[in-house]
Amino acid sequence: MLTHINLNDRGSNKETFHVELVAENLEYQCGDSIGIVPENDSQVVTDIIQVVNADGNKSIEYKKERITVYELLKRKINIVYLTERLVQHYSTATGHTIPAGRADLLELLKKYPVKNVAQFEEILVGLNAISPRLYTIASSPTAHEGEVHILVVKDVYESEGKRLIGLCSDYLRQFKTGKQQTFFVQPNKRFRLPAENKDIIMVGPGTGIAAFRSFLAERDATGARGRNWLFFGEQKFTTDFLYQTEIQNWYETGVLTNVSLAFSRDQQEKIYVQHKMLENAPAIYQWLEDGASFFVCGKKEPMSHDVEKALLHIIQQQGNKTAEQAMHYLEEMEKEGRYEKDVY
Ligand SMILES: Cc1cc2nc3c(=O)[nH]c(=O)nc-3n(C[C@H](O)[C@H](O)[C@H](O)COP(=O)(O)OP(=O)(O)OC[C@H]3O[C@@H](n4cnc5c(N)ncnc54)[C@H](O)[C@@H]3O)c2cc1C
Repeated sequence: MLTHINLNDRGSNKETFHVELVAENLEYQCGDSIGIVPENDSQVVTDIIQVVNADGNKSIEYKKERITVYELLKRKINIVYLTERLVQHYSTATGHTIPAGRADLLELLKKYPVKNVAQFEEILVGLNAISPRLYTIASSPTAHEGEVHILVVKDVYESEGKRLIGLCSDYLRQFKTGKQQTFFVQPNKRFRLPAENKDIIMVGPGTGIAAFRSFLAERDATGARGRNWLFFGEQKFTTDFLYQTEIQNWYETGVLTNVSLAFSRDQQEKIYVQHKMLENAPAIYQWLEDGASFFVCGKKEPMSHDVEKALLHIIQQQGNKTAEQAMHYLEEMEKEGRYEKDVY
């Protein structure tokens, strides 16, 4: 890892990390993601080993591989928020009656102890592998040769009155420069820049900007002639304008033809990217009529649905169409690969 910066300023409600990894000879295209398997928290792993009085250095077999109990817990198996099925399996194996629902392994071991270390090991090998998390690539293969960049927001949520952080975003948040990380490229064949002379409209609030930093850096580096219009949104201009300097530079140098910004908490009423789209309805429709592609990246709920609703409204109103005709227009765009989403 080369660089790791929180792009939000002090006073923000968010922490969004720009992470740069050195990746020589890596093949990827703008629009792809990388997959990372996070490690479990060291303290939780140590607590689990202590609770059952196990030997962390003991080697056991997991999926035809010999591995120490510590390494298995730290790097291989998912020990948090176990599925209902696995909690049920734990209940059957240990003979305890456990209410239905999801739970962490440590919590189960404390509340419903195993009989012995052998039973603990049996439970461990029955657990699922940690699933990889995908992150949209924020760099361009042409502009950032030998590197790959991602943008990761700290995933904060509440459970039973406790404030918790998602496993992988917490893992990446704690990254230190120089750390080595294994990852894979997850291609996204549909989310691709069109021909260099074609116009693009990009709607990418929050971490959705990642894909469009990649697109814009690529179009800048290759001197693409198509026009580029970015819609970006976050909570506050002063603390949350991710990649502000680069976006301003692209606007000043003409790489970005238009930039439309929506900072939801800078005024009384909430303003989101879809509101900025509606304000620019005639120009958006004209771009679409001229053959522009429309891309959306970021949160599926509710953002991508609200953006689609706004887009349909624009097509219907500006094109004097019925709701069905507007839907048909969007479906045709989709068929031509001119309406693409990378949402999660
Ligand atoms: C194609 C694609 C591209 C993506 N690109 C990006 C990107 O560019 N940037 C980015 O930041 N993210 C991106 N994501 C999302 C990312 O992959 C992860 O899902 C995200 O970082 C959260 O992972 P996590 O391990 O931190 O959270 P997890 O630990 O997986 O938790 C996720 C959610 O599960 C629930 N949960 C987990 N544990 C508990 C519990 N104990 N109790 C109750 N609820 C619980 C919560 O709702 C929590 O918010 C992308 C996803 C996809 C599919």
